[in-house]
This record gives sequence, C-alpha cells and structure tokens, in this order.
Amino acid sequence: MNDRRPRGARPLRAQDRSGRLAPRRRFSAVALAFSLAFAPFGAGAEPAPPAEPVSAIAARIEQKKDRARLVFETTAEVTPTVFPVADPYRIVVDLPEMAFRLDPEIGRPAKDKRGADDLVASFRFGHFAPGRSRIVIDLARPAKIIRAESDSKLKSPRFVVELEATDPASFAAEAARRAPAAVPRIAQSAAVEPPPPPPGSKPMLIIDPGHGGVDVGAAGPHGEQEKTIVLEFARVLKAKLEASGRLRVALTRNEDAFMALDERVRVARQAGAELFLSIHADTLGEASVEGATVYTVSGRASDAEAAKIAEKENFADRAAGLEPKSEDAGEVGDILYDLTRRETRAYSRVFARTLIAYWQTFGHLNKNPSRSAGFVVLKAFDIPSVLLELGYLSSARDLSRLVSPEWRERAAAATAQAIERYFEERQDPAREQAQASAPAQAVAATARPQ
Ligand SMILES: [Zn+2]
Repeated sequence: MNDRRPRGARPLRAQDRSGRLAPRRRFSAVALAFSLAFAPFGAGAEPAPPAEPVSAIAARIEQKKDRARLVFETTAEVTPTVFPVADPYRIVVDLPEMAFRLDPEIGRPAKDKRGADDLVASFRFGHFAPGRSRIVIDLARPAKIIRAESDSKLKSPRFVVELEATDPASFAAEAARRAPAAVPRIAQSAAVEPPPPPPGSKPMLIIDPGHGGVDVGAAGPHGEQEKTIVLEFARVLKAKLEASGRLRVALTRNEDAFMALDERVRVARQAGAELFLSIHADTLGEASVEGATVYTVSGRASDAEAAKIAEKENFADRAAGLEPKSEDAGEVGDILYDLTRRETRAYSRVFARTLIAYWQTFGHLNKNPSRSAGFVVLKAFDIPSVLLELGYLSSARDLSRLVSPEWRERAAAATAQAIERYFEERQDPAREQAQASAPAQAVAATARPQ
C-alpha cells in the first residue's frame, strides 16, 4: 500500500523508546510511485562542465514588417535545432551548452523601441538542461521558420534564424508536427537517488530559488534579475541554517540552471523534504505594491493579485519553451490522498503564519502578507510548501532592499529563525498533539510504519 504520510508530519511516524524517530520507509512506495529522474541538488553534485563551452559574444535582431532575422555571433560553429511551440506563440532554438557573454537585457527591447508590427516581441537565453542551452523567441504573432543555420564562412562564426509571418492554423500544424520529437522530457540521466536519511536524523528543508537558466523570471528596471536575486538569498539562508546545525538543508538549484516546476517538487520529495520553501521576487503592474508576501497553495486565489502572481510563476516552464502540462488528476478521489493533502496544507499555513510573524519583527511586509493561489510548485500533496515573495522588483523601495547585501542578511536571519521555530514546534509532542487534526489521526492509524 502506498505510504501517505506527509513529510514532517511527526504524529504519523513511530518513535523508539528514546523518543527518537524511527527510520522511515518513505522511499519505498513513494519512490516507486514517483520513480522519475532526479536532478542533482546542492553544491558539488553537478558534474564538471566541459572545459571551454562555445560562447555567444554578440546578438542582434533585425525586423521589417512581416519578417525578422536573429543573428548570434559565437566563438565556434554551433548547429541550432529550431522549432515552433504554441500557446503562446514561440520559437525555440536548442543548442549545445553555451556561455552567453551578452547583456542579459538584450532580448527585452524597451517598450518605446518596439515596432507596432514587429514579429518578435522579445527573446531570452540560458541553460536548459545538462549539456544544453536554449534561446526562446517570444512572438507577437505566428511565424514560420524560413532559415535556421550556422554560418562559419564569415570572419566570426554565427548562426542565423529567419522568420516570416504566417497564419495561426499553419503555426499550430507545424508546432504539433514538431513538438513530440523536438521537446523531449528534460533528461536528468546523471541523476542519482540519495540514500535514505539515517535514523534520528535532523529534519530536511528544501529551499527552492525560483527560475534559473533560460527562465530568467522577473526583471528590474536596470537589468536586475529575479533568478539571481533569489539564488543569492537562498544561499545566504542555507548558510545561516547550516551554521546553527539544527536542520539538513539543500537547494533545488545552486547555479544559474533551468529547472521545471515539477522537477523542483520531485527533488524535494526524493530528498525526503519535510518543508519546501520557494523563494521569488516578482513584478506587479502596480509599482505601489510592495513588501514581502507569503503564499500557500489553494484551489481558489485569495485575491486578484495572488492570482496574477500564481499565473506568472506557473508560466515558468513555458518561459523555457516547454509545453503546458495537464494537471495530474490520478490521485483525486483517493481518501488517504485527500486527508494527507488536507493535513499538509494545514501545516503549510502554520509555517506561513510563523514566517509572517518573524518578518513582522523585521519589517517590510506587504499590507496583506498572507495570500494563496494555485501555485504548481506548491502542489506536493505530502510536503508542507510555502512560496515567499521577498518583495517586488516593480517597487523602487523593494528593489533597493532586494539588492542590498545588508538587507539580505537581516531578511535571511528572520527567515531562518522562523524555519527553526516551525520545526521546534513540530518536534514538541505536546504542541503537536494540540495541532494534530482528526484527519491526521485517521491517516496515522492507516499509514503507520510497520
Ligand atoms: Zn518568480
């Protein structure tokens, strides 16, 4: 039978006479049920990159009426694989792993520089999968690829992608024809499942710096990038927690690498996470919206802003050129699944409240700091999961805080204290008993380890 205990749901785990937690069996059934690729996490888990990857050293785009031409100059010849992806209209350029020695903002033309009939709205580039880089071209309307090739005859090697406007039906037909072969599941073949934690080991926290690689996330007015700000914060937070030594901590990504949303959840599950904290710093249309906001998952968004943020965050996979995924409905209707999920969500809210309480002492909270919406990355049914927006890059005041190393230190310290407090309360049997809900006891009775 399936092992349905939520991560960190202590009432569901047997204790030995010394009161220590018994070894878990969590990897047995769950690992089989989710026996999918595992992405390396944490420092040192990645294989060494090739000695000298090819670099892109210049990029430009020329647009005229119904045509567009993108040129990337490189240090050696590379052969791109180019294909269209629908919903929204995009052209994906797949490449071997490359270093992009370019202004990261080069693909985001300022609004006033955009032509009304431009075919290409923007483009972005970066890491996509081990050994692979990707450029994603966002189209203003459907286009077909009329040329995509490398050219090494010139003084400096380059590759060129030429596009021409087409009609929606032709675009859809071409995208459908190319998609199955051209958009493989991200290969994480070098992945290894970590050994189960030793008996009585410390609780496991997964910190998830949002975005990465070709998915750059939000951008500030001077080229500040969400993917970089959140990674820096996550590293400081991890160091603080490791220094106090009460938890085991790992990051979903520890470099500028793309990671799909469900990969993040899978990494957390396979690492035996008892709490999952995703870190973001988004933008909102309203520059007046500021301050940290703590999000939990819910079927229905708490408010319009939360819905907007969830929509942006859930777009992350598509930002990297992946197809949108249908919801996994395989478990719906299963009573144990529903009970476990309900308890997991209750613990997510407990942690969200703790986090807000600690940030309150430190300041800079949004006027409505507790919100919820349908975030894909928070949907693990068995791991309490929370998404922390550190602030909004669209707010000048938030931005000045987000890029300040002193602020980052203080904010990470408050966050670390909240995390440790949450786990302290979870480990205190008296408090735990008071918090355990009827559903938790029902799951405990059924899913207790043998
Ligand atoms: Zn984000």
